[in-house]
Amino acid sequence: MKEISKHYNSLETEKKWLAFWDKEGIFKFDPKNKNKIYSIDTPPPTVSGKMHIGHAYSYTHEDFIARYQKMVGKNVFFPFGTDDNGLPTERLIEKMKNVRANKMKRNEFIDLCNKTLKQITPEFIADWKKVGMSCDFSKIYSTIDNNCRRISQSFFIDLYKRKKAYRHEAPVVWCPNCQTAIAQAELEDREQEAYFSDLKFKLPNKRELIISTTRPELLSSCVAVFVHPDDKRYKKLIGQKAQVPLFGNRVEILPDKKVDMKKGSGAVMCCTFGDKTDVEWFKEYKLPLVMSLDRAGRMTKRAKKYAGLPIREARIKITEDLKKKKLLVAEKKITHAVNVHERCKTEVEILNSEQWYIQILDQKKKFLELGKKINWHPEFMRSRYDNWVKNLGWDWCISRQRFFGIPFPVWYCQKCGEVKLAEEKDLPVDPLTDKPKGKCEKCGGQKFVPERDVMDTWATSSLSPQLALYLFFDKKTADIMVPMSLRPQAHDIISTWLFYTVVRSNYHFNKIPWQNVAISGHVLDPQGRKMSKSIGNVVAPQEILEKYGADALRFWSAGRSLGQNINYSEEEIQAGKKFLTKLWNATRFVMMNLPKSQNYKKFNSGKLFPTDKWILAELQEVIEKATKALENYDYSTAKLAIEKFFWIKLTDNYIEIVKNRLYDESAKAKSGRESAQWTLRAVLFTLIRLLAPFVPFATEEIFQTFFRQKPDPKSIHLCAWPTVDKKLSDKSKIEFGKTLIQIVSQIRKYKAERGLSMKAELQEVAISSDEKMQKQIKQIEQDLKAVGSIKKIIFKKGKKLAIKIS
Ligand SMILES: [Zn+2]
Ligand SMILES: [Zn+2]
Repeated sequence: MKEISKHYNSLETEKKWLAFWDKEGIFKFDPKNKNKIYSIDTPPPTVSGKMHIGHAYSYTHEDFIARYQKMVGKNVFFPFGTDDNGLPTERLIEKMKNVRANKMKRNEFIDLCNKTLKQITPEFIADWKKVGMSCDFSKIYSTIDNNCRRISQSFFIDLYKRKKAYRHEAPVVWCPNCQTAIAQAELEDREQEAYFSDLKFKLPNKRELIISTTRPELLSSCVAVFVHPDDKRYKKLIGQKAQVPLFGNRVEILPDKKVDMKKGSGAVMCCTFGDKTDVEWFKEYKLPLVMSLDRAGRMTKRAKKYAGLPIREARIKITEDLKKKKLLVAEKKITHAVNVHERCKTEVEILNSEQWYIQILDQKKKFLELGKKINWHPEFMRSRYDNWVKNLGWDWCISRQRFFGIPFPVWYCQKCGEVKLAEEKDLPVDPLTDKPKGKCEKCGGQKFVPERDVMDTWATSSLSPQLALYLFFDKKTADIMVPMSLRPQAHDIISTWLFYTVVRSNYHFNKIPWQNVAISGHVLDPQGRKMSKSIGNVVAPQEILEKYGADALRFWSAGRSLGQNINYSEEEIQAGKKFLTKLWNATRFVMMNLPKSQNYKKFNSGKLFPTDKWILAELQEVIEKATKALENYDYSTAKLAIEKFFWIKLTDNYIEIVKNRLYDESAKAKSGRESAQWTLRAVLFTLIRLLAPFVPFATEEIFQTFFRQKPDPKSIHLCAWPTVDKKLSDKSKIEFGKTLIQIVSQIRKYKAERGLSMKAELQEVAISSDEKMQKQIKQIEQDLKAVGSIKKIIFKKGKKLAIKIS
């Protein structure tokens, strides 16, 4: 055996085993392996420069499960990919290269995106390897690569043929900053200050109607005024016309139950489209379509003298003019929630435009049913999915008026507008550069206009099961593998990635995408606040990896169960580091005191000493508890049970108690020595296998240094997960262990209180207990004498356990 290091150096060790795993292909997926497949729909992280702490937290959770499943004998399919198309990537490249996509030539911008991604992706992925992900990194997909383009376009065509994708001109949520349509799921609520203004609308016969609004700049598109049908104040006005201030046109006063009588004056204006209710009224009452805002968020010609002004400026100007003309009668400062675009935090508008949609509104019931068929870990996360589905208000808009995304494989007939689809065998296509084949199926026309829009990034990542499976399997085999075993992810993308994947799987395969979902929480700062650059409380996982190593970070990450947020705590990471040091030191101490060639597998467990039987019984309990917890995706309960066993049972007590048996090399002590040796080896080998999913590097180091013997597997991660040995499970031994610990700790306390060394000799210790217990304690007299340096033990009869030291 080569020289064994006194200190555990996690940084050196981790580098060494990463290279080893890679070289030996330990985590390479083998499709020929006949074991049952456990497949994971790994989240493809959005390429954003660097892994953040939230990634490290949630990805290690799924890795605990993947490594466990591998050890219990499953053929684990754990692929890896990156999400690098669409708006998030555009924003990253714009920031990195200091450019604006809409100020560049389309091709040049796309080239720049592709080139930059090529440069930054390898380093980005390296962090996932460093944190110890046991994915198969030999084949990686990127959601913008040719293969993914082909898959995404092909499934789009499938949707279109199934009549689940349609193009339609309608009001859509619009980001004036990104200048694209977006989906409901990309909205965020943000508290914002505003003025609630009471405006004077003139009525015939010199009467007036006061209307409250936060958006006077939309006056030019006011097409109706609404009041509640039960509102006594306004009942008589229904059907009459009101004059829009500043613009002078007259609009009808209509009754509708959606009006909140208690808000403002109880009369509201409908400006196509101030908000979602306006859209509903527009449809229901067939109101005229008047747009006062354009795609860049500027006032249109309809706004007359305000045309060309950005929204905010228009609001100020119009408010000034209303005041001048005494049409603004009151103004109140309020804070209210507005919808902003999650990517750029700009307040969104609703615009009328032609977009591609995936039909979802008519399937709410089906989606709720599908949600019930999936096992949610933790269970309560399903309510987030349910609430989202119940509150869906729009079909899923998937077209984006952007550049770096997967193009729709679609042209339009110049003559009749009919959709012309690309042919399956030609995919992927870019309609801007490729030409369609054949004539228009409707009118026979031969000229086509390409679709310029690209697909939203979720329209592709919602196919992640296929993106990953098609890398390794033919289509037929892959499609049978749906539902996959597990989708792990964080909770903030339940309404997007999770929901959309359910939608796609339902439409294309008529089944749920996975049997289980595991939802991780977020990492907050030590005070429980969200981490953000502006507060300056962001913790970089790269720094933790450099200072403490991946195992310590993983140990911390296993400290909370699925769905729970965690406050970042450097002390907890240090505790992980301390654990690793103790694990190394304890193992090293024990293994140096064991004979090199003892065949621990062949020892007759009937010859075990009672103390040894006790620790082995405790070990069986830990195996049982950890296995049950991990089967249920509850890795944190498993980790805690193993950790407690290690500190409290094994190192604080058991090793201390049996140490002396190891040292005694006399012939008469042979049976005790061998029993302890066998037990220690068995316990430690089991312990490192239990710990392997959590601290894969340190356990590999221990395995390779002390345990690996041919024909053992090449790596700890190819060893079998420990199973309970019924012969060693023994509840009475666990009870007995409690008494043992009690006696030992009283002796320690006695010495500590008197300032004595733990090795100080005690002349006599009297132990009183009932008869049954006495019999058991007598069996471990030698162990007790050794651990307490006791010369003589006197046994007395008593009802309760009592210890007298002199
Ligand atoms: Zn935006
Ligand atoms: Zn045509």
